Amino acid sequence: MNIPLVDLGLQRDRVAAEVEEGFARVLAKTAFIGGPDVTAFEEEFAAFTGTAHCVGVANGTDALELALRAAGIRDGDHVALPANTFVATAEAVVRAGAVPVPVDVDPAHLLLDPGEFEKVAPRCQAVVPVHLFGQLAPMKAIRAIAEQHGVKIVEDAAQCQGATHDSTSMGGFGIAAATSFYPGKNLGAFGDAGAVVTDDEDVARKLRLLANHGSDKKYSHPELGFNSRLDTLQAVVLRAKLKQLSGWNAERALAAETYAELLADVSEVRLPGTADGNEHVWHLYVVRVHHRDEVLKHLNENGVGAGIHYPTPVHRTGAFAKYGRPEGYPVAELAADEILSLPLFPGITHEQQARVAAVLKEAVALHG
Ligand SMILES: *Cc1c(COP(=O)(O)O)cnc(C)c1O
Repeated sequence: MNIPLVDLGLQRDRVAAEVEEGFARVLAKTAFIGGPDVTAFEEEFAAFTGTAHCVGVANGTDALELALRAAGIRDGDHVALPANTFVATAEAVVRAGAVPVPVDVDPAHLLLDPGEFEKVAPRCQAVVPVHLFGQLAPMKAIRAIAEQHGVKIVEDAAQCQGATHDSTSMGGFGIAAATSFYPGKNLGAFGDAGAVVTDDEDVARKLRLLANHGSDKKYSHPELGFNSRLDTLQAVVLRAKLKQLSGWNAERALAAETYAELLADVSEVRLPGTADGNEHVWHLYVVRVHHRDEVLKHLNENGVGAGIHYPTPVHRTGAFAKYGRPEGYPVAELAADEILSLPLFPGITHEQQARVAAVLKEAVALHG
């Protein structure tokens, strides 16, 4: 039995009829950019996140860059971000003209550590907390520090669609939150797509301008913009999938509980937890083991599509090494050597999970 890290087939099948109908509607009108499906999705996603505005864009990396620009980040500003994030967070900061300032994470949840953030806050103009693996960063502590030092918050919400902290969703803590609808995210398109949500009307207006050639009305371009729009066909897919998202997130949470039960007695495997006040949407189920590379190899050789998110902390990649501090980031660096993402997706069966657990037990008995 081969078990993939992510199987998107079930989601595809559950929305197939609605997507086909929507595609036919768009094709009949040959209205491929903008239009009612994009507007409707933006309204529906804003409502889902409890924010006032949603602006659809081309992908999650653009969403972050445009959110930083719309929040007023300028050339040479310093922007704090967790050292263990996906590289796109750092890319967006540099593309917005700013200097990334990596910050270490807390050992329990691998989320931005407020105490570490506090050390760099006096020299930062913004912070990008990353809601990693499906739960929000400790936003109340981060917000208190940010307010004290006049640091703007732009959330990286690519991995937390549906997650909350004290019942507040993405966009409820920062000036804006950027999200990605890359196919494997909790809400995934049939290609690239992204969005920014915000409660600030001026920020929303600025985002629309930036994403559409800096244009406020046709052939008027008051400032440099970009071409980063949410594709209409992707909006059709996202509208259909958004209706199912809460159910799919509940399936993920059940699957996470199942792993916790199946692996409870395996002392070599450290299980992930949920931070206080958080509702977790389990974008990834990340355990920690010793001799991770050997364990991963054993899993992969036995048909279990486990993975690593992410093997190299941002400050150890070629592109961003120059932004790291000399003493490094010990928590993020140790985690990068131990983390292992187990297969988890809506529709994963108990049989599949039992097989993953059995092979993992075998692997840690051999190598752990
Ligand atoms: C996926 C992801 C992004 C980038 O999104 P794309 O749509 O692939 O550009 C940014 N940050 C994090 C944490 C992500 O997981």
